[in-house]
Amino acid sequence: MTPEIKKLKDIIQNTDNVVFFGGAGVSTESGIPDFRSADGLYSSKYKYPPETILSRSFFNNHTEGFYRFYCEKMLYPEAKPNKAHIALAKLEQQGKLKAVITQNVDGLHTLAGSKRVFELHGSALRNICLNCGKNFNMDKILESQSVAHCSCGGIIKPDVVLYEEQLDMNVMMEAIEAIYDADVLIVGGTSLNVYPAAGLIEHYRGDKLVLINKSQTSYDRNADLIIRESIGQTLEKVVAVTVRAALGNS
Ligand code: ZN
Repeated sequence: MTPEIKKLKDIIQNTDNVVFFGGAGVSTESGIPDFRSADGLYSSKYKYPPETILSRSFFNNHTEGFYRFYCEKMLYPEAKPNKAHIALAKLEQQGKLKAVITQNVDGLHTLAGSKRVFELHGSALRNICLNCGKNFNMDKILESQSVAHCSCGGIIKPDVVLYEEQLDMNVMMEAIEAIYDADVLIVGGTSLNVYPAAGLIEHYRGDKLVLINKSQTSYDRNADLIIRESIGQTLEKVVAVTVRAALGNS
């Protein structure tokens, strides 16, 4: 165990108010690529950049093209929670972690057992008919592999926040409150360059800001502890005994 990880372990041992804020890097360890990273989806065969395809106007005007990309690049039905998701769920069970705030739409925190999860960009596990408001799970989208339709004839839209769309303000406010009240804030798997990540961190008032990221972030100089290692391995070591037990049961 490195001195940094030992320090994080000590910090967590002495608090019951940890908040975790995570980005795409949390899910890459589950085999879900970050569509913004260099080896992510940019180098792909689509003629529009992901930011264009994943926008509301593109969804409205090229619904079929949107779904082609979405089904191939954004849905990972086989993905399982990794060590990071499991460790965070355990920390919550132990009464130490108050909330997980995520920019990911894969629902893996909830699948790992986390209860208080704020999904800033929505969830691919929820899908809503734009006409009647009926809810559908991801199977409905996977079955159609193209534009998904409701029995009422309406088009179904994934409950994910597309470019050009507003974030859910209630989710945002709760996330800000959790960060504002947090004793320890752990930020993992994000370079903090994407809105609203950096802005959210500004609401933290404590003196235990922990960054776990393999590369530099724009917030390094504000951090009280920086760990340049895998989030899964780091958090597993921090929550060592319990995580091993959980993996043994699955
Ligand atoms: Zn409908």
